[in-house]
Amino acid sequence: MVQSSILGFPRMGVNRDLKKANESYWAGKLSQKELLDEGKRLRLAHWKIQKDAGIDVIPSNDFSFYDHVLDHIQLFGAIPEKYSKYKLDPIDEFFAMGRGRQVPQTDSESAVDVPALEMVKWFDSNYHYVKPTFQDGQQFKLSSNPKPVAEFLEAKEAGIITRPVIVGPVTFLALGKADRDQNVVPISLLHSLLPLYEDLLAKLKEAGAESVQIDEPCLVYDLPAKVKNAFKPAYDRLSSLGSRAPELTVATYFGDIVHNKDVLSTFQKLHGVHVDLVRNPEQLDTVLEGLGPNQVLSAGVVDGRNIWKTNFKKAIEKVELAVQKLGKDRVIVASSSSLLHTPHTLESEKNLEGEVRDWFSFAVEKAKELTIIAKAMTAGPASVREELEANAKSMESRASSKRTNDPKVKDRQQKIQESDFNRKSPFPTRIAQQQEKLNLPMFPTTTIGSFPQTKEIRLQRNKFTKGEITADEYEKFIEKEIQDVVKIQEELDLDVYVHGEPERNDMVQYFGERLTGYVFTTHAWVQSYGSRCVRPPIIVGDISRPAPMTVKESKYAASISKKPMKGMLTGPITCLRWSYPRDDIHQSIQAQQLALALRDEVVDLESAGVFVIQVDEPALREGLPLRAGTEREEYIKWAVESFRLSTAGVNDSTQIHSHFCYSEFQDFFEAIAALDADVLSIENSKSDAKLLRVFVDSKYPRHIGPGVYDIHSPRIPSEQEIKDRIQEMLNYLSPDQLWIDPDCGLKTRQWKETKAALVNMVNAAKFYRQKY
Ligand code: GLN
Ligand code: ZN
Repeated sequence: MVQSSILGFPRMGVNRDLKKANESYWAGKLSQKELLDEGKRLRLAHWKIQKDAGIDVIPSNDFSFYDHVLDHIQLFGAIPEKYSKYKLDPIDEFFAMGRGRQVPQTDSESAVDVPALEMVKWFDSNYHYVKPTFQDGQQFKLSSNPKPVAEFLEAKEAGIITRPVIVGPVTFLALGKADRDQNVVPISLLHSLLPLYEDLLAKLKEAGAESVQIDEPCLVYDLPAKVKNAFKPAYDRLSSLGSRAPELTVATYFGDIVHNKDVLSTFQKLHGVHVDLVRNPEQLDTVLEGLGPNQVLSAGVVDGRNIWKTNFKKAIEKVELAVQKLGKDRVIVASSSSLLHTPHTLESEKNLEGEVRDWFSFAVEKAKELTIIAKAMTAGPASVREELEANAKSMESRASSKRTNDPKVKDRQQKIQESDFNRKSPFPTRIAQQQEKLNLPMFPTTTIGSFPQTKEIRLQRNKFTKGEITADEYEKFIEKEIQDVVKIQEELDLDVYVHGEPERNDMVQYFGERLTGYVFTTHAWVQSYGSRCVRPPIIVGDISRPAPMTVKESKYAASISKKPMKGMLTGPITCLRWSYPRDDIHQSIQAQQLALALRDEVVDLESAGVFVIQVDEPALREGLPLRAGTEREEYIKWAVESFRLSTAGVNDSTQIHSHFCYSEFQDFFEAIAALDADVLSIENSKSDAKLLRVFVDSKYPRHIGPGVYDIHSPRIPSEQEIKDRIQEMLNYLSPDQLWIDPDCGLKTRQWKETKAALVNMVNAAKFYRQKY
């Protein structure tokens, strides 16, 4: 028979229960036992959901209190000394690595002060993992009570036989790095890590595990030879364990493995291979050819990264191809990746209209989908006729819905011309006109957009959402906030003001709520990192802008300001990336629709007297396809074009800014330059100023504001520190090119430190203004 399987289930629980438990524990309001019990309760609840849905292969060890890579760091004893030296309880040591730990000295305990390990994005998702950090001469040691074994036994006790999930040795090492000042090449540690995998697998077998999922998603990358060559020794060794270990299924996801197909042959003695057939259905043929004679294919046909109902017909067709070649017993129907990236259940959504609700499927619903597809394969389509018919109807409703298709939008896209992507004149002409209009001093100072989102702001927004205050009252409140920040910026003597974004709940949701084509959920949270969750809006149809979105606030702000006011928008790629995109049309089309809507907004801002407009694109870099090649080149092309389309409608004298909060722009520099923004602000304060060398090397002609201080911390940078930083920047950038600004928006900060930091920043800028 064709079995069904899930690669991982969301951890947070139906009401973000894990977030609440963790945060209460961190605040000292929950005991360690209560926290651990809550973890256990969630695991059991999630296994039971999958079991009740009829899933055959249910994962364990997919749960984590913070992050599953961090779990493995602890599992293998790869804990840097700066944490282990405190001899904390395992769970506290775990959190210390995940989020840092700072506790003052008490009578009984000495002070602890360690920052977190580095956290980075998990492949091209918005989930962040904790980066393994290795030492020269790194030793590993399997923890005394290995989590995968403990959780397998916990499920077994509840009568559920699970398939433990572990991160494979090559991926674990490849995702790691040498600690600061260390030279170790992580993959060279393979030989000392493998004995622990052997030991762990033997222990799982002893505990009764018949099968283990071993994740090697790094196979979807272009791998350096050293990493690629590590697969053979690793898997020769693990497959020689025979009956001493459970059966192993190697899982890859978020991309194809065709470029690494020779590695497939090193897996041939293993039980099975999982591939993502949602993202890359075309890899099926190659993978089928590369399987060993008895190997099982786990076919990932239910999207683990999105919220759309699975198209059963298409999924079944795909699985059918595999079944024809391998037979029913050698095919498993699976989620494309872990369901970690999908919200918990659609059941929680009480406000979704019936029409669109019928198009969605969250984790709980996807579990059900998998069992239906498996049943259709095993017992024939007639066995699930009703479900298939309902699904076909739902697909049809979505494809033909008025909400999905807006001929006016399509028509406008058809009419886009080459000239729409280009500003009227080249930069030298533009900047001269801008300078005449704006009259800015050298080293102009500005901020990135948001000012502290105070309790009061959130309170009033909440009241307004609940209907406790009228739109008029809310508008008055926002105007008062804007007046306050304008006054503060006057006092600080900044050069280009912002209105502070008090009206915005979130930089994407705010725009989504004002655009046609979007819908919103109330409970569809997904983990972003640790206890932090996001609730991305959903793009359901063609996007258009029924009315101006930000003009009222920006116009008001400009009208009460003596200096230039900067309008503030979220760019098309960031709107796309931080939403759930449609899966029925290419993302480039959605980006273009967003760009057209934003273009109108940009032009309207200009007509309203806002002559500096910033279009934020912090997600531009993360959208970059994982592998070099056509897809990546195409992405750069359409992403850049979307930005240009959204900004090129203005006059030469209007200054376009853009902002990025990441510093890894070296390999991406051409794309950033191609945006043709008059001024760029980038995160830079935590990086080496040497990174700015790319601007020199490429003779970048336009203006740049590399962040002069870190906004993630309440720490106030001194004036001298900022001056030093500017001095370093001047090694790479010319004085008439340099803007002075913080790393990012200030919404998460308090006013006290914000003002103090900005006073120092403005003084530092004035110092250089005098000097040059
Ligand atoms: N304008 C936004 C702000 O200041 C930018 C946020 C971001 O780049 N993440 O908050
Ligand atoms: Zn930013």
